[in-house]
Amino acid sequence: MAEAAAAAHKLTIGVPKESVQGELRVALTPDGVKKYAGAGHKVLIEKGAGKGASISDEAFEAVGATIGTGKSVWSESDLILSIHKPNETDLAAMKKDAAIVAFLQPMINLDLVKDLQKHKVTAFSMDAIPRTTRAQYMDALSSQATIAGYKAVLLAAAELPKFFPLLTTAAGNIPPAKVLVIGAGVAGLMAIGTAKRLGAVVEAYDARAVVKEQVESLGGRFVEIDTGADLAGAGGYAKEATEDILAKQQAGLAARAARTDVIISTAAVPGRKAPLLVPASTVEQMQPGSVIVDLAASETGGNCELSEPGKTVVKHGVTIIGATNLPSTVPVHGSLMYSKNLQNLLALLIDENGQLKIDMSDEIVAGTIITRDGELLHEGTKQRMGDTPAKGA
Ligand code: NAD
Repeated sequence: MAEAAAAAHKLTIGVPKESVQGELRVALTPDGVKKYAGAGHKVLIEKGAGKGASISDEAFEAVGATIGTGKSVWSESDLILSIHKPNETDLAAMKKDAAIVAFLQPMINLDLVKDLQKHKVTAFSMDAIPRTTRAQYMDALSSQATIAGYKAVLLAAAELPKFFPLLTTAAGNIPPAKVLVIGAGVAGLMAIGTAKRLGAVVEAYDARAVVKEQVESLGGRFVEIDTGADLAGAGGYAKEATEDILAKQQAGLAARAARTDVIISTAAVPGRKAPLLVPASTVEQMQPGSVIVDLAASETGGNCELSEPGKTVVKHGVTIIGATNLPSTVPVHGSLMYSKNLQNLLALLIDENGQLKIDMSDEIVAGTIITRDGELLHEGTKQRMGDTPAKGA
């Protein structure tokens, strides 16, 4: 009897159709639906939510999901699983004490954080998951960056008017393409590996000298630029470069750009504007027909001064791809990996009785929670709220 009572009060887990233009991924795939429906939760999926990732409503229903409208998903769920952040209408529709897990980027979306507080939403941000060994299985930043790095190279190869591999043919010998990867984090390392597999000669630069070994283990050559500082910061991330360091980095990279066919730039500092490493003057020096894929392209600027977010432009004869959402271009595996990351996080957030639990003594939960009951709990965002007016950011 007690079991029946508990079963009656399990969660309604809602999965909306992503509202960001062009987004093809879905937050939860059928394996996850099967798991939660099998455990007695109601899994409410918005009609058509899986279409972009080749998952039909029928495929979701076959593993126990209920298909509903967007309105019902936002208003009836105890827990919303999403990729992108919600808008204010969605938040206003949520039940009292309901929770959401998504990429919220709280440190740059301060208005969203205020709305989460206003509507007393319990919010967890996938981009706030600590970069620790224990949290690796939940690390959606890494799984999606892996896709971005891979796809960036394929886009570059498709645009480059040359082969990537060395070819010895009856029509003559073709030298391999030269690829320069800037930023050797998760996306950058995947880009190095992918470009190597296509036969290019690859070199890579990062402001953290510690990645030299990783670059070399993938067959890349590590580019050394003497800036007088190593920007290795906490948690494996880089610290923001000063103007002086940036100028030295720009000069060092410009010397290489002139003899490279492809630049894949991935340099980022969490919660900060991307470093400008490829100014217009560097693009001018590149060979016509060269390609730049700027994974950091955004409205606030990317790694390349001439990139435009979401667009491919040709400047000084160089094709510049301002890639903004490459994970969405591999939606089947993008969804599958995100869904697995989510399920691994939810193992910490749902207790054995099927209830939401928030154990603040767990470093992953404490690091990932952003707001609860109107209170802002995320340290980095608290600091940003404090320093925003002063910096005018
Ligand atoms: P990111 O997307 O924030 O940045 C990408 C890269 O840009 C980083 O390697 C950074 O050093 C580099 N960068 C920043 N400013 C630069 C500048 N001015 N010039 C040149 N390069 C610059 O980082 P990411 O890929 O998400 O992860 C970074 C690191 O975090 C990884 O390489 C790894 O060491 C660590 N990490 C750890 C785990 C784990 O332990 N579970 C998981 C993922 C990542």
